[in-house]
Amino acid sequence: MLTRQKSFQNDNPKLYLVGTPIGNYDDMTFRAVDTLKNVDIIYCEDTRISSMLLKHFNISTKLKSYNVVTENNLTQGLIEEIKNGKNVAVISDAGLPSISDPGYLAAVNAVKEGIDVIVIPGVSASLTALVGSSLTTNSFTFYGFLNSKKNQRIKELELLKDISNTLIIYEAPHRIKDTLTDLLSIFGNRYICLARELTKKYEEYLRGNISDILEIVDELKGEMVLIIEGKKIDEITLKLNELSLEDHYNYYLNLTNDPKLSYKKVANDLGISKSIVYNKLNKK
Ligand code: SAM
Repeated sequence: MLTRQKSFQNDNPKLYLVGTPIGNYDDMTFRAVDTLKNVDIIYCEDTRISSMLLKHFNISTKLKSYNVVTENNLTQGLIEEIKNGKNVAVISDAGLPSISDPGYLAAVNAVKEGIDVIVIPGVSASLTALVGSSLTTNSFTFYGFLNSKKNQRIKELELLKDISNTLIIYEAPHRIKDTLTDLLSIFGNRYICLARELTKKYEEYLRGNISDILEIVDELKGEMVLIIEGKKIDEITLKLNELSLEDHYNYYLNLTNDPKLSYKKVANDLGISKSIVYNKLNKK
């Protein structure tokens, strides 16, 4: 069923997802300040961090804690507050809510209840790092955090390694060495950009191959984002990928006379699994 939200053509109480700075208070927008002053309540991750932000901008709105651990239990209450006539904002410690941060659950439940969801845009570490990386921005995949368990992380990287999009990954400083080491062994020595402490005094972009960054990784502190060059696709593969699956398969079959190898080559070109190619060609 189609629903239409005409955001600013009614006075109904709303859910506001408000972007906040990722380290430099000067990145706070006028609209964010205005919204946070005017809502009835602000749900935030860490009340100590958000109190400092509110104090800086002379905002006296009440704060309520709402984080990844509690959001499952607290979202229904948040929605009830809006249904009872209150305007509610959700902010995270830094950046855009809902981007590897609380916010999604509030938004999805608000939409279910017919409540308007208003985004007050702001900085996100993901797009800031991407734009500063100098890697192509034409198409990119935001992955967020990899799994902290090594075997799970390896599985995730295996799935990501054949994607030709630029890849955006968030990483914690205490895991960066392990992640770069796993990346090197699975992706090969790809070109990457590590962007750290964005918008802060010690902002730094490290651009080079994975092994170059691994050489100095022990020096690196603070918050960081990895921007990874997508898998390079040669001209022939690009042309083959434009063909129908049948023609693509037949191209390799004519060359090799080996159906198994042909399924594998098509799957490799497209960055999908062999079984998907097999099933599609055999209409399963
Ligand atoms: N919602 C946030 C956003 O829109 O950017 C992201 C929150 S996520 C929990 C935190 C991660 O974002 C950090 O571990 C780091 O990877 C990245 N991050 C946040 N602030 C950053 C900064 N100033 N410089 C570099 N990376 C940052």
